[in-house]
Amino acid sequence: MTATARTAKLLKGSTADWEVVIGLEVHAQVNSKAKLFSGASTAFGGEPNSHVSLVDAAMPGMLPVINGECVRQAIRTGLGLNAKINSKSVFDRKNYFYPDLPQGYQISQYKSPVVGEGEVVLDLPDGERVTVGIERLHLEQDAGKSIHDQNPTLSLVDLNRSGVALMEIVSKPDLRSSEEAKAYVTKLRSILRYLGTCDGDMEKGNLRADVNVSVRKPGAPLGTRCEIKNVNSIRFIGQAIEHEARRQIEVIEDGGTIDQETRLFDPNRGETRSMRSKEEAHDYRYFPDPDLLPLEVSEKEIAALKADLPELPDEKKTRFVKDFGLTVYDSDVLVTERETADFFEIVASGRDAKTAANWVINELFGRLNKEGKDVSSSPISANQLGAILDLMAAGTISGKIAKDVFEITWTEGGEPADIVENRGLKQVTDTGAIEKIVDDIVSKNPDKVADAKTNPKAIGWFVGQAMKASGGKANPQTLNDILRHKLGL
Ligand code: ADP
Ligand code: MG
Repeated sequence: MTATARTAKLLKGSTADWEVVIGLEVHAQVNSKAKLFSGASTAFGGEPNSHVSLVDAAMPGMLPVINGECVRQAIRTGLGLNAKINSKSVFDRKNYFYPDLPQGYQISQYKSPVVGEGEVVLDLPDGERVTVGIERLHLEQDAGKSIHDQNPTLSLVDLNRSGVALMEIVSKPDLRSSEEAKAYVTKLRSILRYLGTCDGDMEKGNLRADVNVSVRKPGAPLGTRCEIKNVNSIRFIGQAIEHEARRQIEVIEDGGTIDQETRLFDPNRGETRSMRSKEEAHDYRYFPDPDLLPLEVSEKEIAALKADLPELPDEKKTRFVKDFGLTVYDSDVLVTERETADFFEIVASGRDAKTAANWVINELFGRLNKEGKDVSSSPISANQLGAILDLMAAGTISGKIAKDVFEITWTEGGEPADIVENRGLKQVTDTGAIEKIVDDIVSKNPDKVADAKTNPKAIGWFVGQAMKASGGKANPQTLNDILRHKLGL
């Protein structure tokens, strides 16, 4: 952990500046066809209780059998987090009662997790690089779901999720602001998606976080933390931290102390409220599950999984900076989703990479965001965008017309070169034609001409008029040269 407070991120209280300290426990659903200890399907959205084996329903005498694919996915994830993989780990029973937990305990890992310490590196928009420590990653079972709003007198239970494999990824208390926490979850989700170990769909609950927050004066020991349970969107994580930090600062500045407690975030009110205090905290009576042998993985298996990893976001980012000369931040934006990085690489191939990056980040992302689409459903393909850049590079169209061609290709489809040809959008470089336009404007506006002689900035008005008259197609450089000549500048 860094000892020095990142001063820019301190929160102002009424008596002092405060540092926010955040650690996250992220629950990520493992991508696997079957559950952690049974062959039942993990498919989303099935009829209630249609994906439930006798093991998941905890029928007496049923025995769990470890799903090797879930273990491999956890190890892949650990490798992607540059973490230590423990060749021997242990499954424990975490005992508690809950109506949607038919076993009466959750099989989890406690003292010996499958993955130990690792790290996640964040490149923030202001250029700062923050390394967040990973404490551990362990495998555990998900619980079922209680449904309270379908029957006026009964609560119902759906066990489809019961027994689905989760990875719990625990960070060290290394985060110092809501922005950093959001960047961390975004980065973690990106790594998981590249690895294909979790699809990271927060709307389906495949990725959710318990958010631990405390405050302290810079340099002081860690303060008492509160844990906000089960926050299921990146935006809510940010809001929960902002609210909770402010709440704690107010309590302390009013002379009170923070009680260690579990809280809930209410997205409608944007605030956290108490759920249970430490005194009510569970004693889970963990003990090794006698139905399961310790989990052993050979160095050879780990090495094979490592050799098989895809290029991950950090490596891709480094390559983009080195090979394409892009900034770290632009590269970071481009590599967050693998589909976007692939799209960009097609556009950049054989073309000016910075122009390609600008168009992907500004025009494409802007347009996609406007319609709530992602790159995989983009109406404009990488090759179509590349063709527009080629027309621009060849001087066939100006940058301004290129944006129009982008819009037409987006809404109507078609080959950009044909669009330019058929609609007569080619840039006018013919000096005769441009001269004619300029002569016309000059002769009709003697006062503006006089003005331009004393105030060279007034040329802008002529550029605008001539561009308009040419339908935006006049070559800007040629137009400028002709104007300066005719105005005698
Ligand atoms: P538990 O298992 O009881 O929840 P841990 O010690 O494993 O407790 O910590 C859980 C999470 O809380 C970790 O992500 C850790 O980084 C975070 N954390 C621990 N101490 C603090 C603190 N003082 N302020 C903020 N977060 C903390
Ligand atoms: Mg916890």
